[in-house]
Amino acid sequence: MKKKNLINFIETRTGFFSLLVILFTIKYIFAAYHDFNLGISDPYQHIIMWLSPIATAILLFSIGFYFTKPIISYCVMIILDIANTGLLFANILYYRQFSDFITVKTITNASKVAPGLGKSAVALLQPTDLLLWLDLLIIIFLLISKKIIIEEKAYGLLTPFTITTFGIFILILNIFLAESSRPRLLRTTFDRSYIVKYLGIDTYTIYDGIKNEQTEQVNRNANTADLNKIMTFTRQNKSPANQKYFGVAKGKNVIIIHLESFQQFLIDLKVNGKEVTPFLNSIYHNQHSLSFANFYHQVGIGRTSDAETMLETGTYGISDGSLFTALGSTNTFQAAPQILRQKGNYTSAVFHGNVGTFWNRDDVYKNLGYNYFFDQNYFSHDKNDHIGYGLKDKLMFAESIKYLERMQQPFYSKFITVTNHTPFDMDSEDLDPDFKTAQTSDKSINNYFETAHYLDQAVHEFFNYLQKSGLIKNSLIVIYGDHYGLTNSENETLAPIVGESSDTWNVYNNVQMQRVPFMIYSPSLKGKIKQQVAGEIDVLPTLLHLLGISNRPYLQFGNDLLSSKYQPWVVFRNGTIVSQKYIIVGNKGIHGLVYDRKTGKQIINFTHQEEVEIKYLARQGKKSLKYSDLLNNHNLLRFYTPSGLKPVNPSDFDYLTNFQQMEDLLNSLKRKSTALISQYHKSTTALYKTNAPELKKRQEEIKKVPDSVLENQLTNKKNQTNVKKSSNNSE
Ligand code: MN
Repeated sequence: MKKKNLINFIETRTGFFSLLVILFTIKYIFAAYHDFNLGISDPYQHIIMWLSPIATAILLFSIGFYFTKPIISYCVMIILDIANTGLLFANILYYRQFSDFITVKTITNASKVAPGLGKSAVALLQPTDLLLWLDLLIIIFLLISKKIIIEEKAYGLLTPFTITTFGIFILILNIFLAESSRPRLLRTTFDRSYIVKYLGIDTYTIYDGIKNEQTEQVNRNANTADLNKIMTFTRQNKSPANQKYFGVAKGKNVIIIHLESFQQFLIDLKVNGKEVTPFLNSIYHNQHSLSFANFYHQVGIGRTSDAETMLETGTYGISDGSLFTALGSTNTFQAAPQILRQKGNYTSAVFHGNVGTFWNRDDVYKNLGYNYFFDQNYFSHDKNDHIGYGLKDKLMFAESIKYLERMQQPFYSKFITVTNHTPFDMDSEDLDPDFKTAQTSDKSINNYFETAHYLDQAVHEFFNYLQKSGLIKNSLIVIYGDHYGLTNSENETLAPIVGESSDTWNVYNNVQMQRVPFMIYSPSLKGKIKQQVAGEIDVLPTLLHLLGISNRPYLQFGNDLLSSKYQPWVVFRNGTIVSQKYIIVGNKGIHGLVYDRKTGKQIINFTHQEEVEIKYLARQGKKSLKYSDLLNNHNLLRFYTPSGLKPVNPSDFDYLTNFQQMEDLLNSLKRKSTALISQYHKSTTALYKTNAPELKKRQEEIKKVPDSVLENQLTNKKNQTNVKKSSNNSE
């Protein structure tokens, strides 16, 4: 009896429609678990994910309902189902190859990518893919063989309208739940997989399409007159290199250590009588370190990715999101890896224990010109080895060596740490029993010291290896903190620990907390702790000059910190300005809060001179941000190629076969190889010593390239996916 009811229901048009929606939802949920790695953790996220395909399936298939002629109505529903399944299927295949989702840009550029994809598409198929099409095959068969009868009843507008409204309701509910689980999801898309996880493939594709159209609209309105204005501004402000420092590190390897959420106040700080970061303190005070006591982060909503934007390109992050995710896939850059490859024959790589799609890095790094990107795929997949935002730092450094030693020298490399990231969680086995953290009322603060202490040890172990392997002699190490770890709301509780009082803590103190470490170390460098105000925007020009490469041809907003003409002031992304004399809060100039930077006293009555100086700084700060935004939002660098700098061709790079590419290069260069492993005639991984309990048990992990990496390279080789080898020696 029940079965009969069901068949009767399916033979109504609403019933048939419901069947399609339900079957599509089931297929989608299956694919989400079976084919995608969405990182769904708590039950709430599972529910949101199950909900995500329903709204768009209802909205899409309901279009069929608006056709009055029954046969056409059924056909349209089926065709839309096929199209939607096709989109899902295409994403599954794409994901198998790139661990990422298809962007609208990829679809419109399909002709460029297709030759590389086409051949391997068949090889990417799996038996389970059949399940994706099975329901449609059966339904079409049942319709043709008249096992399902098409309902001939005429529907007015009311039913389809009700269904559409219901679909919209579900969509709004979905977006609401997603926003409550992941605030600012759509505003700061740090990762495509996050949008898919919460809103489904369809909504993601529509959203991406809208964003893509907006970008293109802006680009169509771009003009070169703007570019000239910007270039005049940056040229006027450029300070000449200091001959004492220019080229002192010429030809050296560059190793950038990105200290996640690490603030300057940690340096030299003692908690319960013990230094929190003894090793970094020793580097800070080292006679071969150029250290900066008043170096400010300048990140906005794009946080880590903003810091990277400034260091790699010498331009600011954008005002309303992350440049990496909003523009990183499409913009033209004059970035460090590309400049160094062409001016100094550098090979470049990033090492990072999080997934490659985070902040859109897997796309952006290609546009910046990075040869290699070692993301989570290249490291241990053991669950115990991960916490928070990815692989634990000690393990990331240790497991990087087998890749680092294979890189041709000189290299430009960046290690992005993750353990010291809010909420600063650590496994108890990784805690140092000799370090007792603070006991404040705020758990974040207490945890922060522990993860910072852990990070310090991780960097120490890495340095020991650099020393033992001799790599350090030929390297310039850049250490910096990307942004704050503790927020303004936590600062008041922190105050007594940093020698201040919670009662008098104010805006000035919060601004001063935005200082992060910046140190440049090399055994041959004459060091000093510099007090001048500096910021992240200044790192690239400073670095280029140390390496003996003039920054004059490039469009950069910062300046060489070692130049005698360096003007010591920085502007934050929110408009706050810090100069040697002043802290000018927000972007209101003399009409807002202004403090004396050294004494912390608020300046209320301005002398004429102060007024002139503050107005000048406010104007410069505003212009600097405005021009950087204009440059990036309109992608103006595509109109300006400095002589000698060939634009990046992102398709030169393939981050899925890094290891194979390095091996091939070693084999073809033979004796000419400058990689460390060639100089040693054997691997140097045995020189790496770590006290990480995860590795102590199985020291072999350091040396082993994960099976999944080797498999990946093997299948890619077998399929000959037409991916060009990255050009290490182009100029
Ligand atoms: Mn960060």
